Amino acid sequence: HAKPDGPGMYAYFDSAMNRRVARTLLIHNELHSALHAGDLELYYQPQIRIATGKVVGFEALLRWHHATLGAIPPSEFIPIAEQSGIIVQVGEWVLRTAAQQAARWIAQGHQGFRIAVNISARQFVGQNLPELVGRILKETGIPPSALELEVTESLALHNVANTLATLHECKALGVHLAMDDFGTGYSSLSYLKRYPLDTLKIDQSFVRNIPHDLGDVAITRAIVAMAQSFGLSLVAEGVETPEQLAYLRELGCDDAQGYLFSPAVPAPQAERFFTEQQNTALPA
Ligand code: C2E
Ligand code: MG
Ligand code: MG
Ligand code: MG
Repeated sequence: HAKPDGPGMYAYFDSAMNRRVARTLLIHNELHSALHAGDLELYYQPQIRIATGKVVGFEALLRWHHATLGAIPPSEFIPIAEQSGIIVQVGEWVLRTAAQQAARWIAQGHQGFRIAVNISARQFVGQNLPELVGRILKETGIPPSALELEVTESLALHNVANTLATLHECKALGVHLAMDDFGTGYSSLSYLKRYPLDTLKIDQSFVRNIPHDLGDVAITRAIVAMAQSFGLSLVAEGVETPEQLAYLRELGCDDAQGYLFSPAVPAPQAERFFTEQQNTALPA
């Protein structure tokens, strides 16, 4: 038997750890350059009203294609950006770029859609988020109702009173607020009665195995019931099959987002969803 704490083991952990630290530093530095060089892109994933098949909005999702490292997924670089704090600058760029895109679509005559932007908890800490959002609304001239901020339950880990005040100030601007990845965080459900939310997004981990996994069905049902009693609208994330969609419709879920309709795509490709409704994917 190899001794688990032998010197070779330390060497192994050392080099694995070094590689991880080096990769993190690399991503951090490169992200800084990417932000300033304009190498970050926003893609847009349509959100579909289940009852009508109409596109009601898009979620803006960051994409980063690095010249030598290739595509770096948000799941890798967002946590690093949050840790280092550069998410504040990245987040401002995302907000402004999404709002500018909304303004362009409005100028083309499209109406009644919303662009959802992911906001990290870090963007609430020591930042004037409502001031930034207000400034971007003014800059771009879009109606506040065209913008939705997606927050996560990790917000509750920070200064609660301050978070609540910030959410209310954002809400007072007229933008919509959605709770992303609902049900996966560690926070208490009591925020549902305090946060001025408009929408709950059912996490894709629950959607993935419905209607076969009874536990996930039970959780999804409970989320739908909760949203209904709080007067919140619902978006199911990660909808991939007609079967999942049919079940979500039966449960009374409002909107769906997922590969069944489209992955996140560049703005020019997202535009076709304004005209082309994805009725083909909707069972009768
Ligand atoms: P999220 O906000 O929950 O976004 C949904 C994720 O699910 C996206 O991954 C999307 O591409 C993916 N997705 C959509 N439909 C399906 C589906 O049918 N099946 C599967 N398996 N996945 C689907 P993505 O773009 O890789 O982003 C991952 C996470 O990174 C996001 O999760 C969000 O937390 C974060 N993120 C992305 N862009 C931003 C951003 O601009 N700012 C911040 N703070 N976070 C971002
Ligand atoms: Mg999101
Ligand atoms: Mg999500
Ligand atoms: Mg997620």
